[in-house]
Amino acid sequence: MMKINIFLMFMIIALKGFCGEIMDQNKEFKNFLDEYAPKVSNKSQSVALASWLLETTGSKDASFLVSSLNTELKLLFNDEATYKKLVAWQNSKAITDPLLARQLEILILSFKGNMAPKELLEEISNKEAELSTLYANFRAQVDGKKFSDNEIRDVLNNELSVEQRKKVWKASKELGDVLGPKIIELVKLRNKEAKFLGYNNYFDMQLELSEINKADLLKIFNETAEKSDGAYKKMMLDIDTALSKKFNVKTEEIGPWLWKDPFCQEDPIAPQGLDSYIKSIDILSVAKGYYSKMNLNVEAVITNSDLFERDGKNQHAFCINIDHKQDVRTLCNIKSNGRWMDTVLHEFGHALYDLGYNFELPWLLRTPPHLITTEAIALLMGRQSIKPLFLKEFCNVKDEEFLKQMELSAARKQLVFSRFVLLMTEFENELYKNPDQDLNDLWWSLAKKYQKVNMPDNRKGKNDWATKYHIGLAPVYYYSYLLGEFFASGLEKKLEEISQLPKIWNPKSGDFLNKKLFYPGCIMRWDRLIQEVLGEPFSSSAWIEEFAK
Ligand SMILES: [Zn+2]
Repeated sequence: MMKINIFLMFMIIALKGFCGEIMDQNKEFKNFLDEYAPKVSNKSQSVALASWLLETTGSKDASFLVSSLNTELKLLFNDEATYKKLVAWQNSKAITDPLLARQLEILILSFKGNMAPKELLEEISNKEAELSTLYANFRAQVDGKKFSDNEIRDVLNNELSVEQRKKVWKASKELGDVLGPKIIELVKLRNKEAKFLGYNNYFDMQLELSEINKADLLKIFNETAEKSDGAYKKMMLDIDTALSKKFNVKTEEIGPWLWKDPFCQEDPIAPQGLDSYIKSIDILSVAKGYYSKMNLNVEAVITNSDLFERDGKNQHAFCINIDHKQDVRTLCNIKSNGRWMDTVLHEFGHALYDLGYNFELPWLLRTPPHLITTEAIALLMGRQSIKPLFLKEFCNVKDEEFLKQMELSAARKQLVFSRFVLLMTEFENELYKNPDQDLNDLWWSLAKKYQKVNMPDNRKGKNDWATKYHIGLAPVYYYSYLLGEFFASGLEKKLEEISQLPKIWNPKSGDFLNKKLFYPGCIMRWDRLIQEVLGEPFSSSAWIEEFAK
């Protein structure tokens, strides 16, 4: 008994001492954050505002501001003394307050990627800038005529001459020979950075810094590839039959140039005609009506956004959170067509997520835990725009045969896209493991494995892999689109269960998303949050069930 008492007494004393220490450390870290976090939030807001100016006007002054403010923001994350302090706090295990501990975790991840030697980081960003200029200035040339990216797409969408399509596709791949050797140099520099920070290579580093477990990622992708292989093969038969009929060629003569996308990542036989239904529709009022059915209000986003085409403005679309409070904006170039219906619902989805955080949370936690969760919301909302129920209710489409075709195309779109992501992910994994291997062979062997697309004649020794923008300039990023699609399917299933309705635009769905997904911000890792939201671990099963049965 005595012994136990003494032991207990010792424990109590020890615990008391420990608690005192913990309180001090928590307080100390909190004090650090009170001083440090406002610096980051102010600088981030300046970067966001400057970027907004740049993207909405194309102004050179704004471009200067963006790059200098960005450098200043980066500097806040590469002070070695601060990093050491953060690591010491983490090693002490004394930060026991969960919100503080989560902020510590996030800060360490943000610092870590910036802790390589400055000269190396500079060399990398110079190489990236060079690549970026080469990408922007490259124009494919056929018979003396230059083709922009949009013009290449026009040819692939509309041209019926197989010869002309082939010529344009091949010309678009000439970019690879310009970029390939430069990308390999960049890959080696990125690997050098990763090794310096203690990782095997850059691929592994990027995953770890974004809280993705590599083994889990590869496992879920392998399983998905296996489980959807039957559905994909079946679909490819339909695609081949349709393409062979459309272009009057034998199936063995079909090459990537007969697809609508140069990388075979979009449904090549999507039905025509959606645009003619949408051309007289006010997309903004449809978006307002759609979201109001979920009790989600997009008025503030619309007021803050820049929505229509104008000279000097970025031609694409994005959503930007200016202050992690109420100022969330989208940039769009709305036209009354199917693509913009999808895009507006997509960007507003991102915006509503950003407006849904618990604003009592610290600034650092008012973000999504990973791109996957916000992308899932945006993809889920965008996806609705081609669903029969949506087209009937919001676009007054009554042609049942057309609606059926749209539904089939939606499934093809998912299957086709998933295969490209599988290819990209395995390619990047192998690229960073060994950048000196025959990368073009690797690229086409993966195209065969996943997309069932053969390497065309005379591609040996080329650099077709290097023409995909993301390989050079948005590395180790593509995987998150597919994880986003998987989560979108899981969410859709969940929302339909909760509301007992076959469509997600209802108040119960909106309330659920707000409370369960948006409100917690980044207080936990993405996979834990998804588990909390869905009530089961993250997987691709709902996606398989929906698109690959
Ligand atoms: Zn998005």
